[in-house]
Amino acid sequence: MKVAIQNNDKPVSVEVANKLRHLLENADIEINQINPDILITIGGDGTLLSGFHRYAHQLDAIRFIGVHTGRLGFYTDWREYELESLVESLKNDDGESVSYPLLDVTVIYEGDRAENNFLALNESTVQKVGGTLVSDVYIDDVHFERFRGDGICVSTPTGSTGYSKSVGGAVLHPRIEALQMSEIASINNRVYRTLSSPLVIAKDEEIIIKAINSDELLLTMDHITSRESDVKEVHLRIADESIRFARYRHLNFWDRVSESFIGEKN
Ligand code: NAD
Repeated sequence: MKVAIQNNDKPVSVEVANKLRHLLENADIEINQINPDILITIGGDGTLLSGFHRYAHQLDAIRFIGVHTGRLGFYTDWREYELESLVESLKNDDGESVSYPLLDVTVIYEGDRAENNFLALNESTVQKVGGTLVSDVYIDDVHFERFRGDGICVSTPTGSTGYSKSVGGAVLHPRIEALQMSEIASINNRVYRTLSSPLVIAKDEEIIIKAINSDELLLTMDHITSRESDVKEVHLRIADESIRFARYRHLNFWDRVSESFIGEKN
């Protein structure tokens, strides 16, 4: 078994990473940052998102584990004081994993330029560079609506508790293989009309966004922003790839949601 470690630069995370390195060496587990079987991120959800994008071209080979050094995260199951037990689980690893859907974003450009592909673990947003986005939204080949507003957010099930939730999206259980589209500040009045509620599409469906007032768009994929010119269409669908987490123990999803967003119940 080969393990890579990625940590954020908070002193506590650096300290935890050093301790983990030491424990792995003592357990004769190889540390390999290039071709790991397991990536352990130390920090928060953002650290796991960075780790995911760094190793996104090796998803077939890698399973992920998140250690959190702050508050409970959605991708981070382990606490920094549980490193010994984490290393014990690695020693007894039988390859068990749980996998979650990812979002595939394909940008199609005007002219001859080859299309571009991105992956997102949480969500992708489509916005105009400055000003209101006006775009036609298709679900497969059905012209669904003409959208006017700040932008459109399409999230994965695990991303439904991130940005998507802040723009009014529902929380989806990660076992549901579906994508959710939410509006970011749509304009709705007697002239302009959108659905005005989030919608969830099936796993074999695709959302297509054709901006009609600009070919210059701002796309986000998780924490990554990309300014794209000459854009003809943006296609969003569930990716062929998925992310796999090493499953050494199980945290109930609704417990995590409740603990993160509601806290103490009386
Ligand atoms: P960040 O450091 O600004 O993190 C924002 C917060 O989102 C952190 O508290 C993080 O723990 C939380 N988060 C990330 N993924 C989550 C998930 N799947 N479920 C619940 N909470 C989650 O930004 P970052 O670390 O670069 O992470 C980027 C992500 O942050 C984006 O993918 C987006 O989902 C989220 N985000 C949310 C908002 C918002 O809610 N208004 C704004 C920006 C980014």
